[in-house]
Amino acid sequence: MSKSVIVVGTGNAALCAALAALETGAQVTLLEKADEALAGGNTKYTAGAMRFAYNGIDDLLPLLRDPNDSRLGDTDFGSYDTEKFGDDLLGFNDGRPLSDEQQTLINTSGETMRWLASHDVKFEPIYSRQSFEKDGRHVFWGGLTLAAENEGVGLFDMELAAVERLGGKVRYNSAVTGLVMEGTRVVGVRVGDEELRADAVILASGGFEANEGMRIERMGANWKAAKVRGTPHNTGDGLVMALGIGAAEYGLFSGCHATPMDLHMADFGGLDLPPGERKNYRKICYFLGVMLNADGDRFVDEGINFRNYTYAQYGAAILEQPGQFAWQVFDSKVFDLLYGEYRFHDAHFVEAETLNALVAQLKGVDQTAALATLTAYNDAVDADVAFDPTVLDGKGTRGITPAKSNWAQKIDQGPYRAFPVTGGITFTYGGLKVDQDGSVLSDQGAKIDGLFACGEIVGGVFYAGYPGGSGLTSGAVFGRRAGYGAARA
Ligand SMILES: Cc1cc2nc3c(=O)[nH]c(=O)nc-3n(C[C@H](O)[C@H](O)[C@H](O)COP(=O)(O)OP(=O)(O)OC[C@H]3O[C@@H](n4cnc5c(N)ncnc54)[C@H](O)[C@@H]3O)c2cc1C
Repeated sequence: MSKSVIVVGTGNAALCAALAALETGAQVTLLEKADEALAGGNTKYTAGAMRFAYNGIDDLLPLLRDPNDSRLGDTDFGSYDTEKFGDDLLGFNDGRPLSDEQQTLINTSGETMRWLASHDVKFEPIYSRQSFEKDGRHVFWGGLTLAAENEGVGLFDMELAAVERLGGKVRYNSAVTGLVMEGTRVVGVRVGDEELRADAVILASGGFEANEGMRIERMGANWKAAKVRGTPHNTGDGLVMALGIGAAEYGLFSGCHATPMDLHMADFGGLDLPPGERKNYRKICYFLGVMLNADGDRFVDEGINFRNYTYAQYGAAILEQPGQFAWQVFDSKVFDLLYGEYRFHDAHFVEAETLNALVAQLKGVDQTAALATLTAYNDAVDADVAFDPTVLDGKGTRGITPAKSNWAQKIDQGPYRAFPVTGGITFTYGGLKVDQDGSVLSDQGAKIDGLFACGEIVGGVFYAGYPGGSGLTSGAVFGRRAGYGAARA
């Protein structure tokens, strides 16, 4: 007899779990808290970018919707092997070795992408944000090359279509409010007064980033003011339910992915915006300029690495500043290199012909100190090194703290622009401990029978930071594993 599986959520992790369980012949019902329009959680808000290990273009072609794209012949994708992926994750571990979850993510990232493609979930190269033109060729940088066709909404649509093709059913407006237990075994869920039973339950209900109280309790008072970049529905429900029946806490609960965002955006991400505009409140080209806080000081090395490796930490860095805001300052030399989000019709910025006049418009900032900081920065720029945004160009500063290690051009050519930013939380890192089958483990390290988890709710995948594009891959890797595990249980 086929197994019955309930999946909580309809994001990328949930849909991958459902797909894997369906492949084995299980009957799968997905329960979604949101209505149909907001289903898909944070997944729908994403750019659909996915990081995975590959050895060259031959590994990418089978994943592409259009393997005959005429640009492919003029493109250098390079390679990104498992070792490099491991090094990138280690770079954010604050000295911790790679966790079991990280090893799993790295080692099964490539096969999971091929598995998605086998279900007609297809991808396209991220020419606009992950490559620069050099000598007539598109040169990719930072190990991140592909995004789902039509970004996060496309990923959701393609995965949902695959799930429905195999017979999966979705119920919207069905917030899971509790787990049904028989002894120590999970045998179903509660949706309000209704009890729904199944052989296995997979929690794929996201992190707790949209729960202000939990943010403050787990991550500190700075996080009260954070904008939420994605869905309002990821309020830690599944996490609280699992912890309530004795699941182990795992990973870094004070850690999260948070990026610089427009200070004046709404409190949550806007799925109401047209697809191409959804990421436009993000402001992550700080590596082309500098960031100043209310004291007029710089507070991070804006060019310490490719922005893939810094953007997920710099939201937190801004929230640690007085007043929890900063200004990103650029001169006209880099206007053409700024991503489209800086030209978005609702992007907030000030502009002036001179630096003095620009600084006079930086609301909330000590203007004398700001001008002194900009002058000191300009004086410290190494003029002998050429600027090249396609590589870590080593064009740095000398004798100032913090240094800017790469892409440090003088800010000296008007007009000048400054954009006010704050920190926007993307997703939280602390979560549940799962085993190799995706089973949720208890405080004592034992399987909680009948309960599985995947996606943001799984801890131990990310610590002090995050190489861009790893969240979706993690959801797919752990979702697929939990789906197979639940169907076998
Ligand atoms: C703006 C933005 C851009 C991003 N860009 C990228 C990117 O390009 N690449 C990348 O790798 N990652 C990106 N991320 C991170 C990525 O979104 C997450 O890592 C990933 O989507 C998490 O998938 P998930 O399935 O675990 O959670 P989600 O996709 O958030 O799904 C969780 C689901 O659970 C539902 N839910 C919550 N509580 C309940 C309940 N009680 N009952 C029923 N359902 C419930 C929610 O409504 C939601 O549908 C981005 C995130 C944001 C916000």
